Amino acid sequence: MKQSQLFTKTRREAPKDEVAKNAQLLIRAGYIHKEMAGAYSYLPLGLRVLKNIEKIIREEMNAIGGQEIFMTTLQDPALWKKTDRWAEENDNAQTGLPWFKTALTGGGELGIANTHEEVITNILTKYVSSHRDLPIYAYQFQNKFRNELRAKSGIMRCREFLMKDLYSFNADEASFREFYEKCAEAYLNIFARAGIGEKTYRTFASGGAFSKFSDEFQTVCEAGEDTIYIHLEKRVAVNKEVYTPDVLNSLKLEAGELKEARAIEVGNIFPLATRYAKALRLTFKDESGKTHTPHMGSYGIGLGRLMGAIVEVLSDEKGIVWPREVAPFYVHIISISGGNADVEKEARRLYELLGEHNVDTLYDDRDVRAGEKFADADLIGIPTRLVVSEKTMQAGGVEVTLRGNGHTTLVPESEVVERLVRG
Ligand code: ATP
Ligand code: MG
Repeated sequence: MKQSQLFTKTRREAPKDEVAKNAQLLIRAGYIHKEMAGAYSYLPLGLRVLKNIEKIIREEMNAIGGQEIFMTTLQDPALWKKTDRWAEENDNAQTGLPWFKTALTGGGELGIANTHEEVITNILTKYVSSHRDLPIYAYQFQNKFRNELRAKSGIMRCREFLMKDLYSFNADEASFREFYEKCAEAYLNIFARAGIGEKTYRTFASGGAFSKFSDEFQTVCEAGEDTIYIHLEKRVAVNKEVYTPDVLNSLKLEAGELKEARAIEVGNIFPLATRYAKALRLTFKDESGKTHTPHMGSYGIGLGRLMGAIVEVLSDEKGIVWPREVAPFYVHIISISGGNADVEKEARRLYELLGEHNVDTLYDDRDVRAGEKFADADLIGIPTRLVVSEKTMQAGGVEVTLRGNGHTTLVPESEVVERLVRG
Protein backbone atom coordinates (compact mmCIF):
# COMPACT_ATOMS: atom_id res chain seq x y z
CA MET A 1 0.00 0.00 0.00
CA LYS A 2 1.15 3.51 -0.76
CA GLN A 3 1.35 5.61 2.37
CA SER A 4 0.12 8.67 0.48
CA GLN A 5 -3.19 6.84 0.11
CA LEU A 6 -3.57 5.86 3.76
CA PHE A 7 -6.27 8.16 5.12
CA THR A 8 -4.85 8.12 8.64
CA LYS A 9 -1.99 10.36 9.70
CA THR A 10 0.35 10.11 12.65
CA ARG A 11 0.22 12.62 15.45
CA ARG A 12 2.82 13.87 17.85
CA GLU A 13 0.54 13.97 20.88
CA ALA A 14 -1.85 11.41 22.26
CA PRO A 15 -5.25 12.62 23.47
CA LYS A 16 -4.97 14.05 26.98
CA ASP A 17 -7.61 11.75 28.46
CA GLU A 18 -5.80 8.61 27.31
CA VAL A 19 -3.61 7.20 30.07
CA ALA A 20 -2.76 3.73 28.71
CA LYS A 21 0.45 3.39 26.72
CA ASN A 22 -1.14 1.00 24.22
CA ALA A 23 -3.92 3.42 23.32
CA GLN A 24 -1.61 6.43 23.27
CA LEU A 25 0.73 4.79 20.77
CA LEU A 26 -2.00 3.18 18.69
CA ILE A 27 -3.92 6.46 18.41
CA ARG A 28 -0.79 8.48 17.62
CA ALA A 29 0.19 6.00 14.89
CA GLY A 30 -3.33 5.97 13.43
CA TYR A 31 -4.29 2.39 14.26
CA ILE A 32 -7.41 3.13 16.27
CA HIS A 33 -9.90 5.88 17.03
CA LYS A 34 -11.40 6.39 20.46
CA GLU A 35 -15.18 6.68 20.30
CA MET A 36 -15.63 6.97 24.07
CA ALA A 37 -14.16 5.40 27.18
CA GLY A 38 -13.78 1.67 26.53
CA ALA A 39 -14.92 1.81 22.89
CA TYR A 40 -12.51 2.03 19.96
CA SER A 41 -12.81 1.83 16.19
CA TYR A 42 -10.11 0.04 14.21
CA LEU A 43 -8.70 1.99 11.26
CA PRO A 44 -6.89 0.49 8.24
CA LEU A 45 -3.60 -0.27 10.00
CA GLY A 46 -5.34 -1.42 13.18
CA LEU A 47 -7.70 -3.71 11.33
CA ARG A 48 -4.78 -5.35 9.53
CA VAL A 49 -3.23 -6.17 12.92
CA LEU A 50 -6.53 -7.41 14.32
CA LYS A 51 -7.07 -9.63 11.27
CA ASN A 52 -3.56 -11.06 11.62
CA ILE A 53 -4.27 -11.91 15.24
CA GLU A 54 -7.57 -13.45 14.18
CA LYS A 55 -5.75 -15.56 11.58
CA ILE A 56 -3.29 -16.93 14.13
CA ILE A 57 -6.10 -17.81 16.53
CA ARG A 58 -8.24 -19.36 13.78
CA GLU A 59 -5.36 -21.56 12.60
CA GLU A 60 -4.64 -22.78 16.13
CA MET A 61 -8.31 -23.40 16.93
CA ASN A 62 -8.88 -25.29 13.66
CA ALA A 63 -5.77 -27.37 14.39
CA ILE A 64 -7.39 -28.74 17.57
CA GLY A 65 -10.71 -29.49 15.89
CA GLY A 66 -12.53 -26.20 16.32
CA GLN A 67 -15.44 -25.39 13.96
CA GLU A 68 -16.04 -21.71 13.35
CA ILE A 69 -19.53 -20.25 13.74
CA PHE A 70 -20.99 -16.79 14.34
CA MET A 71 -23.67 -16.26 16.98
CA THR A 72 -25.93 -13.30 17.55
CA THR A 73 -25.23 -10.27 19.68
CA LEU A 74 -28.90 -9.98 20.56
CA GLN A 75 -29.84 -12.40 23.31
CA ASP A 76 -33.20 -13.87 24.22
CA PRO A 77 -33.80 -13.31 27.95
CA ALA A 78 -35.75 -16.59 28.11
CA LEU A 79 -32.55 -18.58 27.61
CA TRP A 80 -30.71 -16.69 30.31
CA LYS A 81 -33.59 -17.15 32.70
CA LYS A 82 -33.27 -20.93 32.26
CA THR A 83 -29.68 -20.79 33.52
CA ASP A 84 -30.56 -18.26 36.21
CA ARG A 85 -28.17 -15.70 34.80
CA TRP A 86 -30.55 -13.02 33.59
CA ALA A 87 -30.91 -11.33 36.97
CA GLU A 88 -27.48 -12.29 38.28
CA GLU A 89 -25.71 -10.81 35.29
CA ASN A 90 -27.76 -7.65 35.36
CA ASP A 91 -26.99 -7.11 39.00
CA ASN A 92 -23.27 -7.43 38.47
CA ALA A 93 -21.99 -4.10 37.28
CA GLN A 94 -18.50 -5.45 36.53
CA THR A 95 -19.36 -8.32 34.24
CA GLY A 96 -23.01 -7.56 33.71
CA LEU A 97 -25.00 -8.40 30.66
CA PRO A 98 -26.39 -5.07 29.55
CA TRP A 99 -29.96 -5.15 28.42
CA PHE A 100 -32.19 -2.71 26.69
CA LYS A 101 -35.80 -2.15 25.78
CA THR A 102 -36.48 -0.89 22.31
CA ALA A 103 -39.17 -0.75 19.70
CA LEU A 104 -37.15 -3.48 18.00
CA THR A 105 -38.25 -5.86 20.71
CA GLY A 106 -41.80 -4.64 20.83
CA GLY A 107 -41.03 -3.03 24.15
CA GLY A 108 -39.66 -6.12 25.84
CA GLU A 109 -36.22 -6.79 27.26
CA LEU A 110 -33.40 -7.98 25.11
CA GLY A 111 -29.83 -8.84 26.00
CA ILE A 112 -26.57 -7.79 24.38
CA ALA A 113 -24.06 -10.60 24.58
CA ASN A 114 -21.22 -10.62 27.07
CA THR A 115 -20.68 -14.36 26.60
CA HIS A 116 -22.39 -17.20 24.71
CA GLU A 117 -22.68 -20.33 26.86
CA GLU A 118 -26.47 -20.22 26.75
CA VAL A 119 -26.71 -19.65 23.02
CA ILE A 120 -24.31 -22.39 21.91
CA THR A 121 -25.73 -24.94 24.35
CA ASN A 122 -29.24 -24.24 23.12
CA ILE A 123 -28.17 -24.53 19.46
CA LEU A 124 -26.61 -27.92 20.16
CA THR A 125 -29.82 -29.33 21.63
CA LYS A 126 -30.93 -29.44 17.96
CA TYR A 127 -27.89 -31.49 16.85
CA VAL A 128 -26.78 -33.69 19.74
CA SER A 129 -28.64 -36.84 20.69
CA SER A 130 -26.11 -39.67 20.62
CA HIS A 131 -22.58 -40.18 21.97
CA ARG A 132 -21.60 -40.32 18.30
CA ASP A 133 -22.44 -36.62 17.98
CA LEU A 134 -19.69 -35.67 20.45
CA PRO A 135 -17.20 -34.13 20.92
CA ILE A 136 -18.06 -30.71 19.53
CA TYR A 137 -15.73 -27.73 19.63
CA ALA A 138 -17.39 -24.57 18.31
CA TYR A 139 -15.86 -21.12 18.30
CA GLN A 140 -16.46 -17.65 16.97
CA PHE A 141 -14.99 -14.16 16.71
CA GLN A 142 -17.70 -11.89 18.02
CA ASN A 143 -18.22 -8.58 19.77
CA LYS A 144 -18.86 -8.74 23.47
CA PHE A 145 -20.28 -6.04 25.72
CA ARG A 146 -19.32 -5.55 29.35
CA ASN A 147 -20.20 -2.91 31.90
CA GLU A 148 -16.55 -2.23 32.69
CA LEU A 149 -16.39 0.49 35.31
CA ARG A 150 -12.69 1.27 35.02
CA ALA A 151 -12.10 1.43 31.30
CA LYS A 152 -8.66 3.03 31.61
CA SER A 153 -6.46 0.41 29.98
CA GLY A 154 -6.97 1.43 26.36
CA ILE A 155 -7.94 -1.46 24.11
CA MET A 156 -7.10 -3.94 26.86
CA ARG A 157 -10.33 -3.25 28.78
CA CYS A 158 -13.26 -2.20 26.68
CA ARG A 159 -17.01 -2.04 27.04
CA GLU A 160 -17.29 -3.39 23.50
CA PHE A 161 -14.57 -5.72 22.25
CA LEU A 162 -13.90 -8.59 19.87
CA MET A 163 -13.46 -11.96 21.55
CA LYS A 164 -12.65 -15.41 20.32
CA ASP A 165 -14.79 -17.72 22.39
CA LEU A 166 -14.70 -21.47 21.99
CA TYR A 167 -17.08 -23.87 23.73
CA SER A 168 -16.22 -27.54 24.13
CA PHE A 169 -18.72 -30.37 24.60
CA ASN A 170 -17.39 -33.80 25.56
CA ALA A 171 -19.08 -37.02 26.56
CA ASP A 172 -17.20 -37.31 29.84
CA GLU A 173 -14.84 -35.51 32.11
CA ALA A 174 -11.73 -37.41 30.97
CA SER A 175 -12.14 -36.47 27.32
CA PHE A 176 -13.00 -32.91 28.38
CA ARG A 177 -9.71 -32.70 30.32
CA GLU A 178 -7.79 -34.05 27.36
CA PHE A 179 -9.18 -31.32 25.12
CA TYR A 180 -8.67 -28.69 27.83
CA GLU A 181 -4.96 -29.49 27.89
CA LYS A 182 -4.78 -29.42 24.08
CA CYS A 183 -6.38 -26.01 24.09
CA ALA A 184 -3.93 -24.79 26.72
CA GLU A 185 -1.11 -25.85 24.36
CA ALA A 186 -2.80 -24.08 21.46
CA TYR A 187 -3.04 -20.93 23.57
CA LEU A 188 0.70 -21.03 24.25
CA ASN A 189 1.28 -21.36 20.49
CA ILE A 190 -0.95 -18.35 19.86
CA PHE A 191 0.87 -16.14 22.34
CA ALA A 192 4.27 -17.30 21.04
CA ARG A 193 3.26 -16.48 17.47
CA ALA A 194 1.94 -13.12 18.67
CA GLY A 195 5.43 -12.33 19.99
CA ILE A 196 4.70 -12.38 23.73
CA GLY A 197 5.33 -16.07 24.41
CA GLU A 198 8.26 -15.53 26.73
CA LYS A 199 6.33 -13.08 28.88
CA THR A 200 3.15 -15.15 29.07
CA TYR A 201 2.50 -17.70 31.81
CA ARG A 202 -0.18 -20.30 32.29
CA THR A 203 -1.61 -19.16 35.60
CA PHE A 204 -3.74 -20.96 38.17
CA ALA A 205 -6.79 -18.86 38.96
CA SER A 206 -10.09 -19.30 40.68
CA GLY A 207 -12.20 -22.05 39.14
CA GLY A 208 -15.55 -20.73 40.24
CA ALA A 209 -18.26 -23.18 41.17
CA PHE A 210 -17.29 -26.12 38.97
CA SER A 211 -13.60 -26.72 39.39
CA LYS A 212 -10.79 -25.94 41.79
CA PHE A 213 -8.95 -23.89 39.19
CA SER A 214 -9.39 -22.19 35.89
CA ASP A 215 -6.35 -21.32 33.80
CA GLU A 216 -5.48 -17.80 32.84
CA PHE A 217 -2.77 -16.81 30.42
CA GLN A 218 -1.08 -13.83 32.00
CA THR A 219 1.40 -11.58 30.22
CA VAL A 220 3.84 -9.77 32.45
CA CYS A 221 3.64 -6.01 31.93
CA GLU A 222 3.59 -2.88 34.04
CA ALA A 223 0.11 -1.92 32.89
CA GLY A 224 -1.27 -5.27 34.05
CA GLU A 225 -4.24 -5.23 36.39
CA ASP A 226 -3.49 -8.56 38.09
CA THR A 227 -0.77 -9.69 40.46
CA ILE A 228 0.70 -13.12 39.82
CA TYR A 229 3.43 -15.25 41.39
CA ILE A 230 5.67 -16.85 38.78
CA HIS A 231 7.80 -19.98 38.85
CA LEU A 232 10.29 -19.08 36.12
CA GLU A 233 11.68 -22.58 35.48
CA LYS A 234 8.34 -24.36 35.47
CA ARG A 235 6.82 -21.51 33.46
CA VAL A 236 3.65 -21.46 35.56
CA ALA A 237 2.17 -18.84 37.83
CA VAL A 238 -0.46 -18.45 40.53
CA ASN A 239 -2.92 -15.58 40.56
CA LYS A 240 -2.99 -13.59 43.78
CA GLU A 241 -6.70 -14.38 44.11
CA VAL A 242 -5.86 -18.04 44.89
CA TYR A 243 -2.39 -17.50 46.38
CA THR A 244 -2.71 -19.35 49.70
CA PRO A 245 -0.40 -21.85 51.46
CA ASP A 246 -2.96 -24.59 50.74
CA VAL A 247 -3.05 -23.90 47.02
CA LEU A 248 0.75 -23.67 46.79
CA ASN A 249 0.95 -27.00 48.57
CA SER A 250 -1.47 -28.68 46.22
CA LEU A 251 0.50 -27.36 43.24
CA LYS A 252 3.84 -28.39 44.78
CA LEU A 253 5.15 -24.84 44.57
CA GLU A 254 7.25 -23.10 47.21
CA ALA A 255 6.53 -19.46 48.00
CA GLY A 256 10.28 -18.76 48.11
CA GLU A 257 10.72 -19.83 44.49
CA LEU A 258 8.03 -17.54 43.14
CA LYS A 259 8.47 -14.05 41.78
CA GLU A 260 5.71 -11.46 42.11
CA ALA A 261 4.76 -9.52 38.97
CA ARG A 262 2.04 -7.35 37.47
CA ALA A 263 0.35 -9.03 34.53
CA ILE A 264 -2.57 -8.75 32.13
CA GLU A 265 -4.87 -11.70 31.41
CA VAL A 266 -4.70 -12.22 27.64
CA GLY A 267 -6.65 -15.48 27.64
CA ASN A 268 -8.71 -17.67 29.90
CA ILE A 269 -9.86 -21.29 29.81
CA PHE A 270 -12.57 -22.52 32.11
CA PRO A 271 -14.12 -25.85 33.09
CA LEU A 272 -17.90 -25.54 33.23
CA ALA A 273 -18.83 -29.16 34.01
CA THR A 274 -22.51 -29.76 33.25
CA ARG A 275 -23.91 -26.45 34.52
CA TYR A 276 -25.28 -25.08 31.22
CA ALA A 277 -26.07 -28.39 29.55
CA LYS A 278 -28.17 -29.38 32.55
CA ALA A 279 -30.05 -26.11 32.72
CA LEU A 280 -30.79 -26.11 29.00
CA ARG A 281 -31.46 -29.87 28.78
CA LEU A 282 -28.66 -30.82 26.41
CA THR A 283 -28.25 -34.58 26.70
CA PHE A 284 -27.04 -37.58 24.72
CA LYS A 285 -27.51 -41.33 24.87
CA ASP A 286 -24.62 -43.78 25.26
CA GLU A 287 -24.35 -47.14 23.46
CA SER A 288 -26.74 -48.78 25.90
CA GLY A 289 -29.30 -46.02 25.51
CA LYS A 290 -28.61 -44.42 28.87
CA THR A 291 -28.96 -40.61 29.00
CA HIS A 292 -25.99 -38.39 29.98
CA THR A 293 -25.12 -34.71 30.12
CA PRO A 294 -22.06 -33.45 28.19
CA HIS A 295 -19.10 -31.82 29.97
CA MET A 296 -18.42 -28.32 28.84
CA GLY A 297 -15.59 -25.81 28.87
CA SER A 298 -15.19 -22.24 27.63
CA TYR A 299 -12.05 -20.69 26.17
CA GLY A 300 -11.70 -16.94 25.59
CA ILE A 301 -9.16 -14.59 24.09
CA GLY A 302 -9.75 -10.87 23.67
CA LEU A 303 -8.21 -9.85 20.35
CA GLY A 304 -7.91 -6.19 21.28
CA ARG A 305 -6.62 -7.18 24.72
CA LEU A 306 -3.92 -9.23 23.01
CA MET A 307 -3.08 -6.46 20.54
CA GLY A 308 -2.83 -3.95 23.42
CA ALA A 309 -0.63 -6.32 25.42
CA ILE A 310 1.75 -6.73 22.47
CA VAL A 311 2.09 -2.95 22.28
CA GLU A 312 2.59 -2.64 26.04
CA VAL A 313 5.31 -5.29 26.06
CA LEU A 314 7.15 -4.62 22.81
CA SER A 315 7.09 -0.86 22.27
CA ASP A 316 10.04 1.45 22.95
CA GLU A 317 10.46 5.20 23.37
CA LYS A 318 10.10 5.77 19.62
CA GLY A 319 6.93 3.76 19.11
CA ILE A 320 5.53 0.31 18.44
CA VAL A 321 7.62 -2.76 17.58
CA TRP A 322 5.38 -5.36 15.92
CA PRO A 323 6.39 -9.00 15.70
CA ARG A 324 6.26 -10.23 12.13
CA GLU A 325 3.09 -12.31 12.26
CA VAL A 326 0.87 -9.54 13.61
CA ALA A 327 2.50 -6.52 11.92
CA PRO A 328 0.20 -4.58 9.56
CA PHE A 329 2.90 -4.87 6.91
CA TYR A 330 6.16 -6.77 6.89
CA VAL A 331 8.21 -4.20 4.98
CA HIS A 332 8.22 -0.40 5.06
CA ILE A 333 9.92 1.17 2.05
CA ILE A 334 11.18 4.68 2.60
CA SER A 335 12.49 6.68 -0.29
CA ILE A 336 14.76 9.60 0.44
CA SER A 337 14.80 11.11 -3.01
CA GLY A 338 15.60 14.78 -2.42
CA GLY A 339 13.91 15.36 -5.77
CA ASN A 340 15.96 12.73 -7.57
CA ALA A 341 13.56 10.92 -9.90
CA ASP A 342 15.82 7.86 -10.16
CA VAL A 343 15.53 7.23 -6.43
CA GLU A 344 11.74 7.47 -6.60
CA LYS A 345 11.72 5.12 -9.56
CA GLU A 346 13.91 2.58 -7.81
CA ALA A 347 11.73 2.68 -4.68
CA ARG A 348 8.61 2.16 -6.78
CA ARG A 349 10.26 -0.71 -8.63
CA LEU A 350 11.12 -2.43 -5.33
CA TYR A 351 7.58 -1.87 -4.07
CA GLU A 352 6.13 -3.54 -7.15
CA LEU A 353 8.65 -6.36 -7.03
CA LEU A 354 7.86 -7.16 -3.40
CA GLY A 355 4.16 -7.05 -4.26
CA GLU A 356 4.71 -9.66 -6.95
CA HIS A 357 6.30 -11.87 -4.31
CA ASN A 358 3.39 -11.33 -1.91
CA VAL A 359 5.48 -9.46 0.64
CA ASP A 360 3.10 -7.07 2.46
CA THR A 361 4.68 -3.68 1.95
CA LEU A 362 3.88 -0.11 2.93
CA TYR A 363 5.63 2.33 0.62
CA ASP A 364 6.23 5.80 2.02
CA ASP A 365 5.88 7.73 -1.21
CA ARG A 366 4.87 10.95 0.54
CA ASP A 367 6.56 14.21 -0.24
CA VAL A 368 7.77 14.92 3.29
CA ARG A 369 11.11 15.36 5.05
CA ALA A 370 13.30 12.29 5.66
CA GLY A 371 13.20 12.91 9.40
CA GLU A 372 9.42 12.81 9.39
CA LYS A 373 9.37 9.56 7.43
CA PHE A 374 11.78 7.92 9.86
CA ALA A 375 9.91 9.14 12.94
CA ASP A 376 6.62 7.90 11.51
CA ALA A 377 8.15 4.53 10.59
CA ASP A 378 9.46 4.14 14.14
CA LEU A 379 6.05 5.01 15.56
CA ILE A 380 4.12 2.68 13.23
CA GLY A 381 6.55 -0.13 13.99
CA ILE A 382 6.71 -2.28 10.84
CA PRO A 383 9.43 -4.93 11.41
CA THR A 384 11.66 -4.35 8.36
CA ARG A 385 12.55 -1.00 6.85
CA LEU A 386 14.07 -0.55 3.40
CA VAL A 387 15.66 2.79 2.70
CA VAL A 388 16.32 3.82 -0.88
CA SER A 389 18.40 6.95 -1.36
CA GLU A 390 21.08 8.35 -3.67
CA LYS A 391 23.63 7.00 -1.24
CA THR A 392 22.24 3.44 -1.20
CA MET A 393 21.89 3.46 -4.99
CA GLN A 394 25.51 4.48 -5.42
CA ALA A 395 26.47 1.60 -3.12
CA GLY A 396 24.45 -0.75 -5.32
CA GLY A 397 21.94 -1.81 -2.72
CA VAL A 398 19.24 -1.01 -0.23
CA GLU A 399 19.59 -0.23 3.44
CA VAL A 400 17.67 -2.78 5.53
CA THR A 401 16.97 -1.91 9.16
CA LEU A 402 15.19 -4.10 11.69
CA ARG A 403 12.77 -2.14 13.89
CA GLY A 404 13.33 -4.53 16.77
CA ASN A 405 17.05 -4.05 17.36
CA GLY A 406 17.94 -1.23 14.99
CA HIS A 407 20.37 -3.50 13.17
CA THR A 408 21.19 -2.03 9.73
CA THR A 409 22.82 -3.68 6.73
CA LEU A 410 23.34 -2.72 3.13
CA VAL A 411 21.82 -5.51 1.09
CA PRO A 412 22.93 -5.78 -2.55
CA GLU A 413 20.05 -4.89 -4.82
CA SER A 414 20.01 -8.39 -6.36
CA GLU A 415 19.50 -10.06 -2.97
CA VAL A 416 16.75 -7.89 -1.50
CA VAL A 417 13.79 -9.94 -2.60
CA GLU A 418 15.34 -13.26 -1.71
CA ARG A 419 16.27 -11.91 1.72
CA LEU A 420 12.76 -10.65 2.47
CA VAL A 421 10.81 -13.56 1.09
CA ARG A 422 12.97 -15.90 3.13
CA GLY A 423 12.40 -13.70 6.19
P1 ATP B 1 -10.91 -9.73 33.35
O1 ATP B 1 -10.73 -10.49 34.62
O2 ATP B 1 -9.66 -9.15 32.81
O3 ATP B 1 -12.06 -8.79 33.37
P2 ATP B 1 -12.59 -11.80 32.41
O4 ATP B 1 -12.31 -12.83 33.44
O5 ATP B 1 -13.81 -11.00 32.50
O6 ATP B 1 -11.32 -10.84 32.28
P3 ATP B 1 -13.42 -13.55 30.30
O7 ATP B 1 -14.81 -13.23 30.53
O8 ATP B 1 -12.93 -14.90 30.61
O9 ATP B 1 -12.46 -12.48 30.98
O10 ATP B 1 -13.04 -13.18 28.81
C1 ATP B 1 -12.13 -13.91 28.03
C2 ATP B 1 -11.04 -13.01 27.50
O11 ATP B 1 -11.59 -11.84 26.91
C3 ATP B 1 -10.09 -12.47 28.55
O12 ATP B 1 -9.10 -13.40 28.84
C4 ATP B 1 -9.54 -11.24 27.89
O13 ATP B 1 -8.54 -11.59 26.95
C5 ATP B 1 -10.73 -10.74 27.11
N1 ATP B 1 -11.45 -9.69 27.82
C6 ATP B 1 -12.23 -9.79 28.91
N2 ATP B 1 -12.77 -8.61 29.27
C7 ATP B 1 -12.30 -7.72 28.34
C8 ATP B 1 -12.50 -6.33 28.14
N3 ATP B 1 -13.28 -5.63 28.95
N4 ATP B 1 -11.87 -5.74 27.09
C9 ATP B 1 -11.10 -6.45 26.26
N5 ATP B 1 -10.88 -7.77 26.40
C10 ATP B 1 -11.46 -8.39 27.43
MG1 MG C 1 -14.11 -9.13 33.24
